[in-house]
Amino acid sequence: MARLLHNLPIGVLITLSGLIGLIIGSFLTMVCYRLAIKLTCIKRPATIHLLLSRSFCPRCRHPIAWYDTIPVVSFCLNKGHCRHCQQSITWLYPAMELSTACLTTVIFLQHGLTALTLGATIICWWLLPLAVLDYQYLILPNALTLSLIIVGLSLNYFTLFTSFSAAVIGTLAGYFSLALIDSLYYLWRNHHGIGQGDWKFFAALGACFGWQRLLPILLIAAVSATLVGCGLILKGRATLKSALPFGFFLSLAGILLLLTCDSQAFAHFTL
Ligand SMILES: [Zn+2]
Repeated sequence: MARLLHNLPIGVLITLSGLIGLIIGSFLTMVCYRLAIKLTCIKRPATIHLLLSRSFCPRCRHPIAWYDTIPVVSFCLNKGHCRHCQQSITWLYPAMELSTACLTTVIFLQHGLTALTLGATIICWWLLPLAVLDYQYLILPNALTLSLIIVGLSLNYFTLFTSFSAAVIGTLAGYFSLALIDSLYYLWRNHHGIGQGDWKFFAALGACFGWQRLLPILLIAAVSATLVGCGLILKGRATLKSALPFGFFLSLAGILLLLTCDSQAFAHFTL
């Protein structure tokens, strides 16, 4: 199988990674929406299974035919509207599918047919739904954060991004560092500043990249969140009391790390 892939022309491999990204992106979009239904006050249908239920329109709940579930294409053909109720469908769905396809392809181009590509792609497929869910609903589900800890530790059992010991320390350091910051903030302002979902998500990033990468991730996320927050306040679209989706910025920092990392850079950080 590996020899067959290595013999394929680069154009075919790029197309293949893009198509895989589109299909996974479509799946992730469905998971995002169903997790949001389960965890928020969105009006839910009688029964819904995270993976097994048939696709349906988020507006009228009408079941969606297979030809209306083709990633991006169906959205464009239906001009962003449901075929049955004609109500508009959020642009986040095709954006998620396209982002997954683009990032999967870029990671492949960055690292080639390597184990690092496989690991980085898998982590990216976890980071994208976490970004979307935190951006749209301010939630970071345990189903994604805790499973990402297992994914990170499993990948680093084979020393993919860092040593296993650095990943374990990263998990603990990630969780307790944000817990400590939040506790100090609580003593100061008498309310929580960072949600527990962020603690678990930061722990997952520590499991994926090791404790050495936690500080750069935190700095990138904090600086970008501050800049966006200031911009929103200046535009009058937020106040100092508005909640910012910090997990969204942690996701972006993690994706940035995946796109800029190389195996040697990570090897330097092993314990
Ligand atoms: Zn509809």
